[in-house]
Amino acid sequence: MQVKSSNRYRTLPKLNDVVRKKKVKPKLIAVIDEDNCTGCQVCVPFCPVDCIEPNPIDKYSIPIPPVQVRWNECIGCEACAKACTDLTWDAIRMIKTPEFEDHYKILID
Ligand code: SF4
Ligand code: SF4
Repeated sequence: MQVKSSNRYRTLPKLNDVVRKKKVKPKLIAVIDEDNCTGCQVCVPFCPVDCIEPNPIDKYSIPIPPVQVRWNECIGCEACAKACTDLTWDAIRMIKTPEFEDHYKILID
């Protein structure tokens, strides 16, 4: 049975106090499928804006937590998703921005 895609991206990271602003609204936003992510961080150096980070230790009581994307900084380039799919575990979903906004009730600016 196919899992409905929206069930895969349940949580959002807590944002930093200081955030960088994007110049253009991206068409896609990367969301980590935390149930599939091993926390290997292979995707991290592929991100051109450095917005992938490990989840806080208090969210997961395991030695290597999955990563999270600071969604407000993501420019939707898909580099992380390609790296994860090609090199590791296929744990990053590229979500159309309107779908992301609708699902999380958040406006990307
Ligand atoms: S490469 Fe994939 S499995 Fe590894 S930390 Fe990134 S999202 Fe998770
Ligand atoms: S889609 Fe691009 S900008 Fe967004 S998290 Fe992945 S590598 Fe970074």
